[in-house]
This record gives sequence, C-alpha cells and structure tokens, in this order.
Amino acid sequence: MSEYIEKEALRQFPIRKDHYDKENGDEHFIFGIEAVLEYAENLPAADVAPVVHGRWEQIKEWATKAKYRCSVCGREIMSAVKVNIEKYPYCHCGAKMDLEG
Ligand SMILES: [Zn+2]
Repeated sequence: MSEYIEKEALRQFPIRKDHYDKENGDEHFIFGIEAVLEYAENLPAADVAPVVHGRWEQIKEWATKAKYRCSVCGREIMSAVKVNIEKYPYCHCGAKMDLEG
C-alpha cells in the first residue's frame, strides 16, 4: 500500500543549511540533507485527494429500519436500526464514515 506525505511537512525539517549548530555541525551532513530535500522537492506530485471524514447521523427510526444522513453531503440512506459501519464505510460523496457520533 502506498503512503503519501505532504511536501510542506518535509520542508519543515528542523535542520537546514541556514538553521543548524554551525560550531559542532558537520557541513557534509547538512549538504546531504539539502540534497535529499531538493530531490523530494522535484518529485512529481501524486494524484491523491485528502480524506474527508464523516458519520452517519440517524434522522428517523421505525420498528426495524432507520434513515441516516451523511454528515458531509446530506445524502440519506435506509438501513437496519443500527447502521453496520462496515457495510457503509464510505458515502457516495467519498467521505470516510469513521467519525465518532
Ligand atoms: Zn456524503
């Protein structure tokens, strides 16, 4: 499974050529850090979108069924009284339904 990071988080690496212990620091080590960061800066961006998190909110309940609404887009679904979150882990809008109620 691929993992993604934000380039901006990498740019925040605390040891940089203009921010290190110049008395005890190793200049070659600093050049190495700068080379890796430059390499990462030039990598192409992956085609990914941030995960949107939501929850199913129960809006109506009958004896055996209930109506739930996506907290992100408002889409409504019918389900058994207790939504089995494993059965509907995502809404059609793409929201991952993992927020606690
Ligand atoms: Zn939705």
